[in-house]
Amino acid sequence: MLRLNYLPGAAIEASLIPATTYQRALLNKISTIICQYGPGVQHIAELSDFYSTKHNLMMATASPFTLASQHIDEFKKILGDKYVFIDEDSLYNYSHDETEDFHFLPDVVLKPRTAEEISGILKICNQYRIPVTPRGAGTGLSGGALPHLGGVLLSTERMNRILDVDEKNLQVTTEPGIITEVLQMELKEKGLFYPPDPSSRGSCFIGGNISENSGGPKAVKYGVVKDYVLNLEVVLPTGEIMWTGANVLKNATGYNLTQLIVGSEGTLGIVTKIVLKLLPLPKHDLLMLVPFRSAENACALVAAIFHAGYMPSGLEFMERDALEWASQFVETSVKIDDDVQAHLLIEVDGNNPEVLMQEIEGISVLATEFGCGEILFAEDEQQKAELWKMRRRVGEAVKAHSIYKEEDTVVPRAELPVLLKGVKDIGKKYGFHSVCYGHAGDGNLHVNIIRRDLTEEQWNGSLKEGIREIFELVKRLGGTISGEHGIGLVQKEYMDIIFNDTQMRLMKEIKKIFDPNNILNAGKIFD
Ligand SMILES: Cc1cc2nc3c(=O)[nH]c(=O)nc-3n(C[C@H](O)[C@H](O)[C@H](O)COP(=O)(O)OP(=O)(O)OC[C@H]3O[C@@H](n4cnc5c(N)ncnc54)[C@H](O)[C@@H]3O)c2cc1C
Repeated sequence: MLRLNYLPGAAIEASLIPATTYQRALLNKISTIICQYGPGVQHIAELSDFYSTKHNLMMATASPFTLASQHIDEFKKILGDKYVFIDEDSLYNYSHDETEDFHFLPDVVLKPRTAEEISGILKICNQYRIPVTPRGAGTGLSGGALPHLGGVLLSTERMNRILDVDEKNLQVTTEPGIITEVLQMELKEKGLFYPPDPSSRGSCFIGGNISENSGGPKAVKYGVVKDYVLNLEVVLPTGEIMWTGANVLKNATGYNLTQLIVGSEGTLGIVTKIVLKLLPLPKHDLLMLVPFRSAENACALVAAIFHAGYMPSGLEFMERDALEWASQFVETSVKIDDDVQAHLLIEVDGNNPEVLMQEIEGISVLATEFGCGEILFAEDEQQKAELWKMRRRVGEAVKAHSIYKEEDTVVPRAELPVLLKGVKDIGKKYGFHSVCYGHAGDGNLHVNIIRRDLTEEQWNGSLKEGIREIFELVKRLGGTISGEHGIGLVQKEYMDIIFNDTQMRLMKEIKKIFDPNNILNAGKIFD
């Protein structure tokens, strides 16, 4: 029997053959620590302390309220017993997203089906000041869906219907809990195109995409989520339900509440219905993988492509490690020569195959001027799918390879080579190895800092100074500290690099107007 104090005044007992996922996860972590540090670790309290502070596995401790059985009963009145969860496994399953290895236990998981149910829940939470964390699929990389104050975890997973496809006006109305790729595929069958395609599109929800203003490979030609959102139904923290705009392509009527909600990371309201603009589906595309001996040259080609008059529909950068790790993760025939340092994955799309052929040839001629190696032109749909799969799984491959921290930098695209060099120089100064990849056509570089041999002090201490230097460089280059992953919980300490006191005051006052009691995703974006 193992006893571990993990909440002040509370203890968990787990048998050596643990019964629940939660207990298994705890014991796995504990045994890893024991293996690493040997049987000299005597006191479970020390272990617990080590566990929570050093391994970033933190449990909800800072909640200013206690959830009483009366609250649970009130939630059950709204949702029925079936969709109110307080068992250990459920709490654990919703204690994390894809951000590093952070965990925070909520007190209860609620799964509403309608805006009216959410309204009822929020009225109760507002009355009793219960923290509420909205959640889509939990694929976020900045900790937005982490219930770090405990309280209610509100999952939108049951709100997953497409409500209306308006083929005449090229619009779709959907609920927030549909998987982005499922929505895209349904639309594709009707010859319609919703372009924003985060690499996580096979698992993330459209509601999460709205709340993060997500991008993805196609953003370079087609724009990000904000460019497609026409109107939103939102439940405010006070429980009021409202629409933000109108289902029109132009709207100059008052403040733009729709765009205020887009990218607000679940801090202003819970999105319950979404009206999106659609495009006709392009009929053809061509794809090529271009290797480079110099990663900086690969970055330099990016701006040159646009300067020469081309508009690719995908322009992705991957450093050698990124592609190599992803290729171990995905079955592939792609060979990476020893001297290759980076790749660009370049796609063009449109309706005229001849024009596309001219474009891809023009870009490949340009690439040779930047010292590229032998270009791989995808021969068929299968090879295209394989190359995209490799690119889309880089994030997972990096995660599987090592503990890491991901920084979502973005600069004007011509500054990419300077950014890449700067990141590597800062890495040398602070002793860390980074693997960079991202949506180069948007100037969006994901800097993945790999833990490797970094000591605890370096990883949780001095590394922060290194990250700050990266972000200061980003700002000097005219960029900002998140292109698409948001600020959430983990990047808020760097907001002062980008925003001054006036800007922060405005944001905080907007939050106060929407959420006077600070119940909705409090402590995300800023304190
Ligand atoms: C392998 C991998 C690849 C990725 N690639 C990309 C990429 O290419 N581009 C990109 O932009 N991102 C990418 N991401 C990040 C992530 O997938 C996106 O941020 C995505 O939009 C999150 O959606 P989600 O449904 O998982 O939201 P969650 O992680 O559940 O939530 C994200 C935020 O939205 C809020 N939220 C969720 N639903 C609602 C709602 N209905 N109303 C109000 N607030 C809500 C949450 O409170 C939280 O703050 C990637 C992540 C992974 C793991």
